[in-house]
Amino acid sequence: MRLTVKRLVPLCLVAAASVAGLQNPAAGTAGESVSAHAASAQTAQREARAARVPTVILTFDDGTADHLAAARTLRKRGLKGTFYVNSGRLGTSGHLSVAALRAIAREGHEIGGHTLTHPYLSEEFEAVQQREICDDRRALLKLGFAVRSFAYPFGDYSDATKLLAMRCGYTTARGINGLHRPDSCRSCPVTEKIPPADLADVRATSQTGLPRTARTLREFVTRAQRQGGRGLVVFVFHEIKDNPRDRYATSPKEFNAFIDWVAKERKAKKIDVKRLGDIVGGRVWPVPEDM
Ligand SMILES: [Zn+2]
Repeated sequence: MRLTVKRLVPLCLVAAASVAGLQNPAAGTAGESVSAHAASAQTAQREARAARVPTVILTFDDGTADHLAAARTLRKRGLKGTFYVNSGRLGTSGHLSVAALRAIAREGHEIGGHTLTHPYLSEEFEAVQQREICDDRRALLKLGFAVRSFAYPFGDYSDATKLLAMRCGYTTARGINGLHRPDSCRSCPVTEKIPPADLADVRATSQTGLPRTARTLREFVTRAQRQGGRGLVVFVFHEIKDNPRDRYATSPKEFNAFIDWVAKERKAKKIDVKRLGDIVGGRVWPVPEDM
C-alpha cells in the first residue's frame, strides 16, 4: 500500500467559538434579562481570550522508571502529558514496566513511540530505521496503547526518517529543539503553530545547558504569554531526579514547582495544557503491512 503524507493529516480541530456557544445554552432565548445578556457577553469575551492563550505540551522521553511518579504529579493537578517510550526497554533496569506504563495510560496520559532501542536514526540504513520505528509502534499498539505520536531519539533524523515516521502511521514526530532560546536560538519562533508547521518535525523548547530550574522553565511560557496567540510551548523532559551531572535531568523539586505553576496558570485560564496527540487528533492508524 502506498501512503502519502496527505492521508495522514486528519485535521479535526474544534473551533473554540462553537465550544463557547455550546456552553451558553441560554444565550438567545426569549425574555433573557439585560444582566444575563451582559454575563453571556462577558463569558464570550473570556472564551475569546482563552482561545488566544498559549498551549503548554508536557512531554517525557525514554520511559525511565521515575516517569510513573512524574505522571502522578501531573494527574494530581489535573494535567495530562505525553510519554515517549522505547518498547524494547520496557521492564529493563531503570525503565518502566508494562504494568507501570499501563497505569500511566489509565491516568489519561498519552503514550508515544520512541523506537525499539533508541539509536541515532540518521546513521542507520533505512531498513533498520523502519524496523526501529514501525516495529516499536507495532509492539506498543499490540500492548493496547493508542500510539499516535513519535519522538526522534536524540532529536536525530534525516529526510528519510521523517517520511518513515509518517508512513508507520504516526500523526506527529517531535524533535528536541527549534523554538526560541535566549542564548542560542534568539530568532527562533517562541511557539510552534497549531497545527504544527511540519507534522514530521514538531519543534520544542530546549533547555540543554541552561539551569533546569522552575524559573527557566516558566520563562518559556511567560515569553509566549507576552507574545500572545495560541501557539504551542512544547517541553521535553528526561529523568526527573536529583543528578546535577546529568545535563538532561530535572530535579523533582524544580519540576514540582514548575508543574504547580502550570496548574495555577491553567486554572486562571492563562494557558491551556494538552497532550501532543490531541493537537492533530484523528484516528489511530494501523502500521501498514508492508512496513
Ligand atoms: Zn530519548
